[in-house]
Amino acid sequence: MDDRLTRFEKLRQIVAQCRACSLHTSRPHFVFGEGSLQARVMFIGEAPGKDEQRTGRPFVGRSGKLLRQMIAAIEIPETDYFIANIIKDRPPNNRPPEKEEIETCVKFLKKQIEIIEPKILVFLGKTAVKGLCPNLAHLSVEILRQQSKNLGMVSYMDIPVVVTYHPSALLRTPYRKVGAAEDFRFLESAYREMAK
Ligand code: SF4
Repeated sequence: MDDRLTRFEKLRQIVAQCRACSLHTSRPHFVFGEGSLQARVMFIGEAPGKDEQRTGRPFVGRSGKLLRQMIAAIEIPETDYFIANIIKDRPPNNRPPEKEEIETCVKFLKKQIEIIEPKILVFLGKTAVKGLCPNLAHLSVEILRQQSKNLGMVSYMDIPVVVTYHPSALLRTPYRKVGAAEDFRFLESAYREMAK
């Protein structure tokens, strides 16, 4: 655990110094991610928004509140999950990150996954797919949601992935909450199975 913490904090320092793309101009705060370093579940979003940039914490605005409620509803304890984004700095006006920004930044998230060694990844929307499984980015979130319910059919470095909507998409289009609830029920059963 100490080794994990040391590697993690070294990585945080590297990100703090990063000027590899123009998004660093949105600082003072980048958003590294938060949660347990022993987490078995990692939730992967897109990029920080205004509230996240202000606080330096992931998913603290309205969509974050919704995400945390959904996680609590399936009883994954805080000690067993980690939340991060593909991109560490806020894109201007919350625009979607560009391909080059994703390709430049995703190495930090990959390193975080390598350190934490989760057993399940949850992709919150298409940007997570673009960052970690770019070979699947031509498929719709709807198709990937269904495919990922055959656990292991969608994976990153042999870690099974559950694909669902980004919580901000649920706020914009509430009818998708039905599908998201189904995805989280599936996640719950996969989590329980893993915990046996
Ligand atoms: S968004 Fe990522 S790659 Fe770009 S400056 Fe920030 S940490 Fe570096």
